[in-house]
Amino acid sequence: MQLSDPALLCHQSFIDGQWCDAADGQQFTVFNPATGAALIDVADCAQMETERAIRAAQSALDGWQALTAKARSLYLRQWFELIMANQQDLATLMTLEQGKSLAEAKGEVAYGASFVEWFAEEGKRQYGEVIPATNAKQRLFTIRQPIGVVAAITPWNFPIAMITRKAAPALAAGCTMVIKPSEQTPLCALALAQLANRAGIPAGVLNVVVGTDAKAIGGALTSSSIVRKLSFTGSTPVGKLLMRQCADTVKRTSMELGGNAPFIVFDDADLDKAVEGVLASKYRNSGQTCVCANRILVQSDVYDEFCEKLVQAVQSFKLGNGLEPGVTMGPLINQAAVNKVEQLVAQAISAGAQVRLGGQTQGNSLFYQPTVLTEVNADMDIFHHEIFGPVAPLIRFDSEQQAVELANKTPFGLAAYFYARDMSRIWRVSEALEYGMVGINEGLISNEVAPFGGVKESGVGREGSRHGIDEYSEIKYLCMGVG
Ligand code: ADP
Repeated sequence: MQLSDPALLCHQSFIDGQWCDAADGQQFTVFNPATGAALIDVADCAQMETERAIRAAQSALDGWQALTAKARSLYLRQWFELIMANQQDLATLMTLEQGKSLAEAKGEVAYGASFVEWFAEEGKRQYGEVIPATNAKQRLFTIRQPIGVVAAITPWNFPIAMITRKAAPALAAGCTMVIKPSEQTPLCALALAQLANRAGIPAGVLNVVVGTDAKAIGGALTSSSIVRKLSFTGSTPVGKLLMRQCADTVKRTSMELGGNAPFIVFDDADLDKAVEGVLASKYRNSGQTCVCANRILVQSDVYDEFCEKLVQAVQSFKLGNGLEPGVTMGPLINQAAVNKVEQLVAQAISAGAQVRLGGQTQGNSLFYQPTVLTEVNADMDIFHHEIFGPVAPLIRFDSEQQAVELANKTPFGLAAYFYARDMSRIWRVSEALEYGMVGINEGLISNEVAPFGGVKESGVGREGSRHGIDEYSEIKYLCMGVG
């Protein structure tokens, strides 16, 4: 493996500052989705190791929360510096286990690191308040305190950023943490733990448990009365299950779940800019992001022109092994993902959709061609399901009202996008879309300073921004009697 620092390739869980095998010695293999090659065998930990990690986080809590915010901030700053200093190696690991192109992987490392830098600063600004009292003999205050031990369960599509977006605010707020990364992408998570260790973050503050038995690890995390909060990013069905499991111990939860993002192109839009927006929002990470444009709604008068421009632009993608120069799009994560995309496309075609570009898997591989489908409508499965693949379904609409109705015709509410020039329309549509985030004449909206999150069945809570750290602290109200 082409790493300049081979010690970043780790194969054990990281618990209480130590690298640990599974108690029963079990291992699982991590594969490269671009080649099918086995990369490494990793400890297959489960319930017992998770319980040990929870106890380690509990033991580390007092010492960590007793530090000043500034002292915690310095550890996080050091972690940030180390992530950026090892950007190339982390990106290589990511491309190998996840498949995205090296350029995208490097971008994600920087994006992931940006949360660590941001929350290192925000941790110092956890202000309380003084409340004017209603009784002359009282003085009222609030302080913010860390929630305690928190758990994170994260997916494979952003193997670094989905961890730092949770770990950085948690640690900055004074919480300690147990992380369960996706079994598809444990290597990035373990490399992050290695760098946190090098940054001097004390033993037990950040624990990473890797394993294939998600139910056992998730069960141990959700049933523990020590764990006071769960932050989850993943599919809506698993998120609902975990919320139910957290109910028994009344844990706080943050849920970043599925999306079904509309991307609306109005007839007054700059069509070339809208095409650029679709390229960024639809095809990034081979279409495997929860904010990917899932339904491209195009006004009838510009439908054909927009379609021509889009098809031409999408032809510029180069599909291949992300480590090879010039490759701009990698494989899907696994066979199940390919099967799902194939089924959605087949159902759409059988119901009258037309393939304008792509529409197939390349040979016997996980590479699905960048695809454009036209004449898609709301009766097709593809309209209602998160595709999680590089397929752009184009749907016609006539009026602004119809576009908004179609856009909101889903139980999801994560990201939405639209392209228009008329200012009144921009305000009307921005307010009418039932989504947590709206890109207006913009296809890339995520960054560390803005609040990321959804409404409806896309989740609860916000990550990033000055609000992201509130998810990891409690407000305590102090009422002091005087005289
Ligand atoms: P995706 O389709 O993106 O893989 P999942 O929701 O299946 O989404 O996975 C996201 C994360 O949730 C992964 O770390 C996965 O291992 C974990 N996970 C899946 N099922 C469960 C479960 N029953 N309990 C706890 N974690 C789970």
